[in-house]
Amino acid sequence: MARLANDCFANPPEMISATEALEKISAAAAPVVATESISLFEAGGRIVAEDIIAPRNVPPSDNSAVDGYAFRFSDYEKDPDRPYSIAGQSKAGHPWKGTSTPNTMVKILTGAIMPDGFDTIAMVEDISLQDNQVILPTGLKAGANCRKTGEDIRKGEVLLRKGTRLRPQELGYLASVGLGTVHVFKRLKVALFSTGDELINPGEAASTTSIYDSNRLILAGLLNNLGCSVTDLDILKDRLPIVRAALNEAAKDHDLVLTSGGVSMGDEDHVRTALSDIGHLHFWRIAIKPGRPLALGQIGNTAFVGLPGNPIAALVCTLLFVRPLIKTLSGAAIEPPLSFRAAAEFSMKKKSGRTEWLRGRYSVSKDGSGRAEKYPTEGSGILSSAIWANGLIEIGDDVTYINKGDMVTFLPFSELMS
Ligand code: AMP
Ligand code: MG
Repeated sequence: MARLANDCFANPPEMISATEALEKISAAAAPVVATESISLFEAGGRIVAEDIIAPRNVPPSDNSAVDGYAFRFSDYEKDPDRPYSIAGQSKAGHPWKGTSTPNTMVKILTGAIMPDGFDTIAMVEDISLQDNQVILPTGLKAGANCRKTGEDIRKGEVLLRKGTRLRPQELGYLASVGLGTVHVFKRLKVALFSTGDELINPGEAASTTSIYDSNRLILAGLLNNLGCSVTDLDILKDRLPIVRAALNEAAKDHDLVLTSGGVSMGDEDHVRTALSDIGHLHFWRIAIKPGRPLALGQIGNTAFVGLPGNPIAALVCTLLFVRPLIKTLSGAAIEPPLSFRAAAEFSMKKKSGRTEWLRGRYSVSKDGSGRAEKYPTEGSGILSSAIWANGLIEIGDDVTYINKGDMVTFLPFSELMS
């Protein structure tokens, strides 16, 4: 298990691009979680901690892909019209034990082992029976309908690389070679706080000055999707000693402390001061919109991220920058999210030299091409926009205007949230 380098997020001196920020985040961070071996049945969503080598061929022996009749292609080549007698039957789990003789066949069911000496299978739908003898159709190819030993997986090959997240198909893949346990990274332990005197929890009675805490719900959901083990540590009042003590305590038994709110320059923004007392905090200036400095820091070996308080700013910042950071800390390999190209349904002017992400809705036009609408307003407190949207439209650094019909990049939430 790696330790974070001391003050690993020490900030780049100048404004950096979104791409540079992502590169620097993955360079600064390292997997901080230990590893464990767990049952395959409990490993969904976990991250593989070492390359996994296949201990066995799949299929383990030649077998049939269909219900049909196995024959020797050499017999068929000589005389495609001649009838065959049926020498026996091979079923999945119950192979035929005989040996092949000229112009005989073995009835074979899907998954049954290929009987010795036979090499090709005709599908049951394609043959005709005459006096208990089988007549084959014309045009059969050598080796047809036979699954070859190791055609899916070869013994000794690397099945999955370290850093792979286990989706259902990977679990089935590991099961197919007989592995009952898998060596994975432990879940990243994340402590989650909101900050603000105005905040109360949903379900509580509100006064006119109260704001219900939505960030913790959004962030806990995102963290769970990313496979983290989340400790919900409630709302911190805007008082320096409270914030400092809570963050210090949480850092002791978590890998990452994540807060929202309280990192601006306002009088009641105590997260900044608390971090400078107990650790390090740096404000990365990234040329993006929605734009805010990204607060990254460290308390001992625990990473710290201070998100903006506005729910949309917190959400977008998490999807774009915290998600890759969490993946790196968790041991996961980072791949850029899948994106679609879509025709813009809007026009806009934009400053060059910064990347913008708009809340967008992707849909498919009647002619089958993709199109992207943008939410009409841009305020970062407007959570309705994220309900309306199904992803983010990314407008690159160098673009200065978009005309309706221009092609833009669309990042679906489903990609950014897993
Ligand atoms: P702050 O970053 O603390 O100055 O907060 C910026 C804005 O976001 C303020 O309007 C806060 O009321 C709002 N805000 C902060 N935290 C939350 C939260 N957890 N849920 C909803 N709104 C929040
Ligand atoms: Mg606040």
